[in-house]
Amino acid sequence: MTFSCAVRDQRLVLDHVARVGELMDDTEVIDAVLQGAAELAEGEFAPLDRVGDTQTARWDNGTVRTPAGFREAYQAFVAGGWMGLAAPEHAGGQGLPLSLSAALMDDLNAANLAFALCPMLGFGAIEALEAHGSEQLKRDYLPKIVSGEWTATMNLTEPQAGSDVGALKTRAVPTGDGSWKLTGTKIFITWGEHDLTDNIIHMVLARTPGAPDGTRGISLFLVPKLLPDGSRNDLRCVSIEHKLGIHASPTCVMSYGDDGGSTGWLVGEEMAGMRAMFTMMNNARLNVGLQGVGVAERATQRAVGYALQRVQGARASGPSREPVPIADHPDVRRMLLRMRALTMAARALVYYAFGQADRGARGDPEARQRADVLTPLAKAWGTDVGFEVASLGVQVHGGMGYVEETGAAQHLRDSRITPIYEGTNGIQAADLVQRKLGLSGGAAFDALIADVRAEAADERLVALTDAVEICAATFREADVDDRLAGSYPFLTMCSVMVGGWLVERIGRAIDAEPKRDEFLRGRRAAVD
Ligand SMILES: Cc1cc2nc3c(=O)[nH]c(=O)nc-3n(C[C@H](O)[C@H](O)[C@H](O)COP(=O)(O)OP(=O)(O)OC[C@H]3O[C@@H](n4cnc5c(N)ncnc54)[C@H](O)[C@@H]3O)c2cc1C
Repeated sequence: MTFSCAVRDQRLVLDHVARVGELMDDTEVIDAVLQGAAELAEGEFAPLDRVGDTQTARWDNGTVRTPAGFREAYQAFVAGGWMGLAAPEHAGGQGLPLSLSAALMDDLNAANLAFALCPMLGFGAIEALEAHGSEQLKRDYLPKIVSGEWTATMNLTEPQAGSDVGALKTRAVPTGDGSWKLTGTKIFITWGEHDLTDNIIHMVLARTPGAPDGTRGISLFLVPKLLPDGSRNDLRCVSIEHKLGIHASPTCVMSYGDDGGSTGWLVGEEMAGMRAMFTMMNNARLNVGLQGVGVAERATQRAVGYALQRVQGARASGPSREPVPIADHPDVRRMLLRMRALTMAARALVYYAFGQADRGARGDPEARQRADVLTPLAKAWGTDVGFEVASLGVQVHGGMGYVEETGAAQHLRDSRITPIYEGTNGIQAADLVQRKLGLSGGAAFDALIADVRAEAADERLVALTDAVEICAATFREADVDDRLAGSYPFLTMCSVMVGGWLVERIGRAIDAEPKRDEFLRGRRAAVD
């Protein structure tokens, strides 16, 4: 089943939800980016999705071999300058809005989720280095990460430190020449080792001598696989995991400092590592939300394609007893429409969050806070939608969905990790009620509600907004355990409210179109 990128859906969302044109001088670039990203995703990444799933990444004595074709596809990604789309111009990037680079990642995620993770981690590293790195580190590392010549990773997790990052034990000691020596073991490090590039830049959280326990004592270090003189740093991929999905993405156990210490440099101040890491994580959280959108798009297209050609049973209404495509059965139509509507709402929510992050980065403090409030919604609900839609996709395929040949099962397996990594969705819900609900004394969350109220027309959306407001007031008064116990349903309510609000906007934009073709009629049906 061929895959086409959702270019028209993206354009609707970029124009009417993220309003990306307000952030750019030359809006003609938008079409060029959407077109080029679609060609890369459809032509280079999508054909390797199943190859990656079946061949998997292979570990051999500390090295990792990627599946056939991945190196060439990565070279096409680098040659197109895609890594630098939203990166700073001084480092060789194009300085375009993050919301435009969201469209690129939407496509790459849909085409090949496991592969797209590799560049995705680089985007976060670029932001963290740009915001917190020394001038020297920026000079030495940014241009090569921005060009894609080197990739980057994010090293938080250790066996005893998962959601509780503050429990990490990796140590860093100063050498006296400005560098540090790191020792410790990190687990689950995505794309921690591979054969796509010579160098890999690891962003590693560690504790310095005398640092207090917990997150307050954590610092962030840049630890390259190859040192500036070209020699190998003292770090090693000890093994990779065998997992449910994203088989092409090597999930590595990384050992630092077996021979005396890996050389690294501080990013930001000592013991301010969580601040720098959050710059990286906030970017990654929005991008993981986008993984949900991408997989939902791909699963929907696959299900629609199958439902149009699989003939089974006659229509219940009408005189004909002839078998029809399953897409003609009302319950299958219900599933397809739900898949399309959820994908549209999740895309709107995540792109909107990127648009607010863009405005925040350009100096709008309210937009920055809005992005902060939206980040847990985008990550958690985006990924919940991805998995739900992938599961509906299997259902639409019937028994053929449960066997591997159709590809529907791969989407379900691949997407299952997304609610877990980058802060589990439970942790996102806790972040919403513990921090984001009270941001600026509650003003940031209340401003969001006010904006929804100002536009909401559908009575179901108005009723949901009332319910969210009542819950928010109750949560602010509640005991912390009660608040946390209700946090996940509350996050879902808030996400559906924001998604519904933004989808209404898309509906109004479609209504304003002078001529409605089949695409717009279909999307209007999904809005309703
Ligand atoms: C394929 C894959 C790729 C990954 N990539 C990376 C990577 O590149 N870099 C990296 O650093 N890490 C990575 N991770 C690690 C990932 O981020 C962690 O698995 C995740 O943060 C959860 O930690 P944990 O597995 O230890 O689960 P735990 O923290 O043990 O959580 C288990 C359960 O308890 C819940 N829970 C735990 N604490 C709380 C709490 N305080 N409140 C409410 N619920 C709680 C969780 O929500 C979860 O449901 C990856 C993991 C996988 C599987």
